[in-house]
Amino acid sequence: MKSPVDTSRVRPSHEILSLLPAKTARAIGALPLATEEGKVVVCLADRTDFAAVERVEAILAERSVEFVEAQDPDDFRRALRENYPDAAITGDLDNPENLFAHVMRRALARNASDIHICPGEIETQVRFRVDGRLQTELSVTSAVAAEFVSCIKVLATLDIAEKRTPQDGNIDTTVNDLDVSLRVATVPTIYGEHVTLRILSQTRETRQLDDLGSLGLHQRQLRLFEEALEMPDGVVILSGPTGSGKTTTLYAALRRLARPGDLHLVSIEDPVEKPVAGVTQIKVDARQERVSFEKALRSVLRHDPDVVMIGEIRDGETATTALRSALTGHLVLTTLHTNSAPGILTRLVDLGVPPYLVASTLRLAVAQRLLRRPCRECMTWAPADAKTCEACGWDAANPPNIPRVHGCAYCGNTGYAGRTAIYEMLPVNEDVRRLLLKGESEGDICRWLRDAAPSLTLRGDALAKVLEGETTLEEYHATVAEELGFGGDDA
Ligand SMILES: [Zn+2]
Repeated sequence: MKSPVDTSRVRPSHEILSLLPAKTARAIGALPLATEEGKVVVCLADRTDFAAVERVEAILAERSVEFVEAQDPDDFRRALRENYPDAAITGDLDNPENLFAHVMRRALARNASDIHICPGEIETQVRFRVDGRLQTELSVTSAVAAEFVSCIKVLATLDIAEKRTPQDGNIDTTVNDLDVSLRVATVPTIYGEHVTLRILSQTRETRQLDDLGSLGLHQRQLRLFEEALEMPDGVVILSGPTGSGKTTTLYAALRRLARPGDLHLVSIEDPVEKPVAGVTQIKVDARQERVSFEKALRSVLRHDPDVVMIGEIRDGETATTALRSALTGHLVLTTLHTNSAPGILTRLVDLGVPPYLVASTLRLAVAQRLLRRPCRECMTWAPADAKTCEACGWDAANPPNIPRVHGCAYCGNTGYAGRTAIYEMLPVNEDVRRLLLKGESEGDICRWLRDAAPSLTLRGDALAKVLEGETTLEEYHATVAEELGFGGDDA
């Protein structure tokens, strides 16, 4: 028999909930939670309520059902109301305001970072991005979708009559007593307007990430990072694709530097992602070319900053000005778009920065990725097989235990809940300077790093985090191995 379920933490998916009609589920008090080993797990307030058991079994006649009990009857009633809201029973979800409120509550409950309203030929899907992956939350008819989109555009003070050009705006709202800001963007498609809502809320999870010490850096990585930040001058560059968490790391570094209050910190961003106390934040508009990064940087340098943060380096002029400013006693933090930490060095040279300038100013190059964390409720451990041991450099005679994911009610059946970051760190020392000045390629420097300090590579950090149960080999393969080659020599 399964232990009682904490229904205050369950996140059943749309597919699971739609197994029971909302009205029936509410009437008999049954909440489908997940599928486990082919069985549908259904939660009841009381497992011995045979009338409820029979009703559910009759509706799910084709499936085998496992019944579980809720830990707390009040939590259970609340979960039932949240997942099968009154509006769904009375048909009021067709009302756009009710639908918006429902979608927002669900998005926050599921820790979604974005909401997509994707129009199709017959119906429109509302999809959530959770831990970096899109999941369909619900489908509505095109007529309901049209009103829903208009309602969102009114809230974001966009022009509702204009449906043929992209627009963007903001919505400030309150969901379950939490202040939530939404960045709204619309774009016309052949079936109507696609709307994306980026959720910017200060939840407990995001507040935790404000601190450098809680980003998942191993001791040695954290020390290297802190040492680079303690230098009075020099450049620290973070890299990674969009959505790899580099902005979060950059902000945590800024906050660390701002805390003592004895430094003049200036940031130049496009756009300003969130306000940081103690930092003068300047918004540039790179698209409109009114205030470019380079122009803003030149004027900022006249204001005697100790630390300058540049949101992203996109061109050679900005790169050269940024690195030159480090020569005159400034600490510069910025990001660049590359796959690896060694790639930062070669990319700067490709952008036209003289190699000697890179060698004399760059202190630390960091690459990062976000990998999903296995769900704590359903994860199991099993020894790695021989092939995996060989690929990962583990002892096949004494294979380590690695996490296996399954899926349960607490993780919306995905097997994962939350994410962790993996890092690659290249401290620019004498050896690295020599490689750079010799004109070695990204691949050459990657190979050098792998030999000199395997634990500082993305691969080394990922394998360590797999052994700690912080992520899985599957996640590593899906996010990194494709780019860098798994155990190969072609990085
Ligand atoms: Zn789970």
